[in-house]
Amino acid sequence: MTGEADRADTPEAARDPDDWGVDLVVAGAGGGLAGALRAAEHGLSVLVVDPDEQFLRGNNTSMSTAMIPGAGSRWQRAAGVEDGPARFLADIAAKTRGTADPTLAAALAKISAPLVEWLAEGVDVPLQLVRDFSYPGHSADRLHTVRTRHGSALLRHLYERVRRSPSIDLLVPARLVDVERGPDGAAGRVTGAVVEYPDGRRETIATRAVLLATNGYGAHRGLVERHLPQIAAADYHGGQFSTGDGLAIGLRHGARSAFMDAYQGHAALARRSRTLVGWATVMHGAIMVDTAGSRFGDETTGYSEYAAALAARPGARGWIVMDRRIHDLCLPFSDFQQTVAAGALVWADDLTALAERTGCAAKALEESVSDQVALATAATGHDRFGRTFFEGPLRGPFAAVEVIPALFHTQGGLVVDGDAHVLDGQGSPIRGLFASGGAAHGISGRGADGYLAGNGLLPALGLAWQAANALSGATDTTDTTR
Ligand SMILES: Cc1cc2nc3c(=O)[nH]c(=O)nc-3n(C[C@H](O)[C@H](O)[C@H](O)COP(=O)(O)OP(=O)(O)OC[C@H]3O[C@@H](n4cnc5c(N)ncnc54)[C@H](O)[C@@H]3O)c2cc1C
Repeated sequence: MTGEADRADTPEAARDPDDWGVDLVVAGAGGGLAGALRAAEHGLSVLVVDPDEQFLRGNNTSMSTAMIPGAGSRWQRAAGVEDGPARFLADIAAKTRGTADPTLAAALAKISAPLVEWLAEGVDVPLQLVRDFSYPGHSADRLHTVRTRHGSALLRHLYERVRRSPSIDLLVPARLVDVERGPDGAAGRVTGAVVEYPDGRRETIATRAVLLATNGYGAHRGLVERHLPQIAAADYHGGQFSTGDGLAIGLRHGARSAFMDAYQGHAALARRSRTLVGWATVMHGAIMVDTAGSRFGDETTGYSEYAAALAARPGARGWIVMDRRIHDLCLPFSDFQQTVAAGALVWADDLTALAERTGCAAKALEESVSDQVALATAATGHDRFGRTFFEGPLRGPFAAVEVIPALFHTQGGLVVDGDAHVLDGQGSPIRGLFASGGAAHGISGRGADGYLAGNGLLPALGLAWQAANALSGATDTTDTTR
């Protein structure tokens, strides 16, 4: 149960600790930075490698909306929000219809509040609880974020702390291409990280542990076509280095993969500016119509699954229709501000003019809006798609933004336990090998509809954090024989 145990059960234990080079190599400077910082806090030495010189703006953590769930956090208690791991777990089970790995989901639900509190107190990330609207599937306000609601600010905070830490070195650009294992073959623990530089030169860095924080395979066309055919034609809106490297390395060393068909889609990428419109529009009462002006479902089921619904409409595009009230409520999101600044919204005083500007059929658009107004005014019941909630009736002037479906990131990957150990075909940990975020198998079940807001960053930051805890012996769930 201690780091000593993690180290002492190996034949290499007799070696001088200096021979290890570093205690932990973190491959991936996204959510992986949480693992680097936590490991340093535990007194371990860390090397972070990443092939992307622009990782601060280029990886998924930096592109995200920075929504991190914490069930039972101190902000929730202060606001009187009743929540806890059991309630969060029930929401995950409901959204995934019971298909998510219950062990991993329980482990992540349990650490979610300690994680956000550590981010705020241990790493000075200025988090706040989101109270102005609710994402689909969360039965309590449990998402925490930074003021700009943008991942670049979150990642910048983590990076500044990494830069100042005397225990963490950064090696950029350098790509992890393999791990080396000890002399006892397949059962041997990790002894080295093989990195490759842009000029093709390779080097092995001695280490007793590697964290695969390389994200999923969203940027690998072949893998996306094989595992996610229903979204393969959509825009990919994620990090360019998410080519499944961690997955390939793990599989090469006997790991198992699971939930390979799971992904986060999004139905609100602005067609014109390729910026995120965001689902707060919908949750505040906006509707989505197809190019003919007709609604095609209950938008509040979730933005992830709505990507495939939008992809199936004529032309694979549509319009989000909103008004001034919704526009103003969405301005706290810097992504939305960028969308507005890019000129992606069209405004019109009435629906006839809006139909002209969008090319939608005026009659269908008017029917779609009047259905919204009827339900929002009644404030009870549901529409023909089962949507029960509209925050307020749409009133002119109206705005519309053209949207296309997108793949944000993949959710399947290497099978891990609650401490982020990568498991082999027999379910045993590959000693010294950890995975987090998109490289791990996730908690979203299968397909796109199990995705809950926060299911990306919680495994990214949380499993990286847990890997560091496990390596140092600071978890209570680690098997001492690992
Ligand atoms: C627009 C958008 C909004 C989102 N909003 C949210 C949100 O609000 N909440 C949420 O929970 N999720 C959100 N997500 C999903 C979330 O961003 C991801 O699930 C999460 O950031 C993944 O983190 P990661 O550490 O696995 O990967 P990343 O943050 O992408 O980091 C992986 C890093 O690994 C590097 N790398 C790749 N290969 C190698 C290699 N071989 N060796 C070394 N390094 C390598 C990459 O260069 C990259 O820097 C959003 C995604 C997008 C696209």
